[in-house]
Amino acid sequence: MRLSQMLSVTLREDPAEAEIKSHKLLLRAGYIRRIGSGVYAYLPLMWRVLQKVSQIVREEMNITGAQECLLPQIQPAELWQESGRWETYTKAEGIMFSLVDRQQRELGLGPTHEEVITAIAKDMIKSYRQLPTHLYQIQTKFRDEIRPRFGLMRGREFIMKDGYSFHSSVESLKKTYQDMDKAYRNIFSRCGLSFRAVDADSGAIGGSGSQEFMVLAEAGEDDIVYTDDGKYAANVEKAVSLPADGILSPFNSYQKKATPNTETIAKVTKFLGCSATNIVKNILYQAVYDSGKTVLILVNIRGDQDINEVKLNNELVKLAPNYQAKTILSLTVPDQNAQQKWATNPLPLGYISPNLSDDYIAKSDQVEGNFLRMADKTVIDLENFVTGADESDYHVTGGNWGKEFTLPNLIVDIRKAQVGDRAIHNPHQTLQTARGIEVGHIFQLGTKYSEAMNATYTAEDGTEKPFVMGCYGIGVSRLAQSAVEQCHDKDGIMWPMAIAPYHVIIVVPNITDQEQMKIAEKLYQELNQAGIEALLDDRDERAGVKFKDADLIGIPYRIVTGRSLKEGKVELVTRKTKESQEIMIEKVVEIFSDILKNNT
Ligand code: ATP
Ligand code: MG
Repeated sequence: MRLSQMLSVTLREDPAEAEIKSHKLLLRAGYIRRIGSGVYAYLPLMWRVLQKVSQIVREEMNITGAQECLLPQIQPAELWQESGRWETYTKAEGIMFSLVDRQQRELGLGPTHEEVITAIAKDMIKSYRQLPTHLYQIQTKFRDEIRPRFGLMRGREFIMKDGYSFHSSVESLKKTYQDMDKAYRNIFSRCGLSFRAVDADSGAIGGSGSQEFMVLAEAGEDDIVYTDDGKYAANVEKAVSLPADGILSPFNSYQKKATPNTETIAKVTKFLGCSATNIVKNILYQAVYDSGKTVLILVNIRGDQDINEVKLNNELVKLAPNYQAKTILSLTVPDQNAQQKWATNPLPLGYISPNLSDDYIAKSDQVEGNFLRMADKTVIDLENFVTGADESDYHVTGGNWGKEFTLPNLIVDIRKAQVGDRAIHNPHQTLQTARGIEVGHIFQLGTKYSEAMNATYTAEDGTEKPFVMGCYGIGVSRLAQSAVEQCHDKDGIMWPMAIAPYHVIIVVPNITDQEQMKIAEKLYQELNQAGIEALLDDRDERAGVKFKDADLIGIPYRIVTGRSLKEGKVELVTRKTKESQEIMIEKVVEIFSDILKNNT
């Protein structure tokens, strides 16, 4: 491609709309343009990158025996009603764009394809002999994200590779899951990314059946914890660890104490001269179930610990049948306004005890009349603890379970793992943290969708059984941008060779110099003929502008037809290291063929 003919506009200044480096660079270098909130045009350079990523994904998926297909983006509401996700996806979470057609039929734009693929399997796979089978596609997904941001990182329209596998046994699913783990590692390595596979939250289904692949970068939206021995890594949403040891309580008798203005843990510890590990902290949550029932939850946890709301959410989903529900629609800490809807009296916030009376909840059909009380494991062993006195500006000290306070029957692990916690697999290892960008997710689904949609096959013993399923996603467009987040310097992008839009850019410093143009044209032809993707900067611009643009666009190598032509040489500059060398014109194609061989 000749730059003079390409739609390519570079910007000198950082665009105001972009916050993180990769977003700024993709805009500045002319890879993407914003069309609307979370909606971007992939310009020619970007499209080449996306196609390269897609091709790597395709090759690695095909090796595993998965088959590529293309599923519809317009999906009938009925399918989502069957799986039970229509209401949550279009209303509660609201992540799915939905529309009504001219026949008044409801449709959704696919945010994911479990429903569609399960309907196909139900229709086409009748016998265990057709199993296992694995279909995947590379396609645009639509999600009405609450906070679209960072360009392609969190778009409302983005490209995903999603695959779904069907099995007659959990063992068979596990085998494919392992194959995917390997394929994903190959894909991310080939794309030149530095990444980490981490245990991920699998929702209320539980089990160890989910792994995320994180590109390590400060701008990542996910917190990861890991140990230096490389034996443990998890998304903080899922992470488990041993909490720090508590300190012996300085109190030995039960007393109510005036503790004015101590509504936070830090203030109480200072006032009473104790450790946060001596405190039972009580937090109130409000959950709305999909049956319409509102439930108020009183959670007890040790004062130095925080609640992991993903874990709490999972515990609450498990309890959904108690409220004639399947799932929860929202989980919040009720503010003053929310409390007014159900509280009989103002709550002593900041001074609540585990015994807080159910009388605070007004009788109503919509609101469960008793607090759902649950305790995190960290409070079980506490003795002579400090906690609220259910009265503003008062705490109690020297409290004990089974004496002044009742330990809830429901004991759960809902604490958030913290940096410095000891690891479970080896208490000598402590948790470290890093930020990551989730570029892939593999998931053992089990029979969740097949059961809901009644998708069965005839097993070897003649009985009808629901398919055992797995699903596997890669954010193709997010991956491409994460490569930029990981590989750039102050001058611009430094694409890894395997996904760079072009391998080399030939810069002609002065297009009016016939010799410079002639050699550049010759190299341009020869390189492209040899399968080396070359871009020719033949624009009528100053050399300085061309060099700046070449650095910004980030093509891995630059050839300059400049001064050294007299000696039959051109300059070869490596983008990443800025190293420059002079090479014989006749050697250029050979050198690049070698570079390419070693890079793909
Ligand atoms: P996230 O937690 O980041 O919202 P997710 O758990 O919703 O991701 P999946 O449903 O597992 O993501 O989708 C598979 C992959 O698609 C993700 O690993 C991610 O790389 C990518 N992805 C998800 N949402 C977006 C988005 N809004 N924009 C770009 N890529 C996305
Ligand atoms: Mg999401």
